[in-house]
Amino acid sequence: MARTENDRAARQLVETSKLFGVDFVPVKMNRARASAAASEEGASAAVEQPVAEAAPSRPPTVAPRSQGRLSREEKIARLAELRKRHDAECPHCTRSTTHKNIAFSDGDPAAELMFIGEAPGEEEDKQGIPFVGRAGQLLNDMIKAMGLSRDENAVTKGVYIANVLKCRPPNNATPTPDEASKCGPYLQEQVAIVQPRVIVTLGNPATHYILNTTKGITSLRGTWQSYNGAGGIPVMPTYHPAFLLRQYTPENRKKVWSDLQQVMERLKTPGAQ
Ligand code: URA
Repeated sequence: MARTENDRAARQLVETSKLFGVDFVPVKMNRARASAAASEEGASAAVEQPVAEAAPSRPPTVAPRSQGRLSREEKIARLAELRKRHDAECPHCTRSTTHKNIAFSDGDPAAELMFIGEAPGEEEDKQGIPFVGRAGQLLNDMIKAMGLSRDENAVTKGVYIANVLKCRPPNNATPTPDEASKCGPYLQEQVAIVQPRVIVTLGNPATHYILNTTKGITSLRGTWQSYNGAGGIPVMPTYHPAFLLRQYTPENRKKVWSDLQQVMERLKTPGAQ
């Protein structure tokens, strides 16, 4: 790697170390320089154990993947149609009486990478956009550290962001299997339209829904899984940023960063699904 690129990477490490206290650094960075830069900034190495997150949801219905590759324009048009249909007929969102806005999605409809969370929180409900509260800020930092952007028009590559539930559950509760089975099929349609090369599921509810499993995120994170079985879209489960905020330890942040580095490596490999 050229020296100037290393210097830029070292500077980014210092910035991300300030933010996260851990090495959320570009994957190509020279690790020795990274450590030196981190220790200059006093990045901590203490370890704490993660706490398991909450309960399972339901089996996914079928996500159609037989439509061939779609152009960006087709994706935009189909997502707009899907959004209209969802808002008019989703059996969960049309019956919810406690939410203010539907947070359908954010980011680039033609992204190679899709992040999936569980449901809008208070701030997302106010703005009608997924991941804009505190957890969203941390997700933004993670996306930036990956060299990507959630801004649809950014020069850097984009990401697409959606949730299992598109409107806020009462009292911010974890989505129930019943709620997920009603709203989740629209998420599956989003995946089928966006056609991401890789999906990152954030936390237990998204991981359970997408992988049709009840296994905990602590055992699944960091291991490649597949959406729709063998030959499907590769899925990397990782901790939810809200969990990271609650258990903000260098150990947990390192784990998430290592999961995201695996994703970056996979996206770098041309043709790798
Ligand atoms: N948590 C989620 O899972 N999704 C959001 O949009 C916000 C917080």
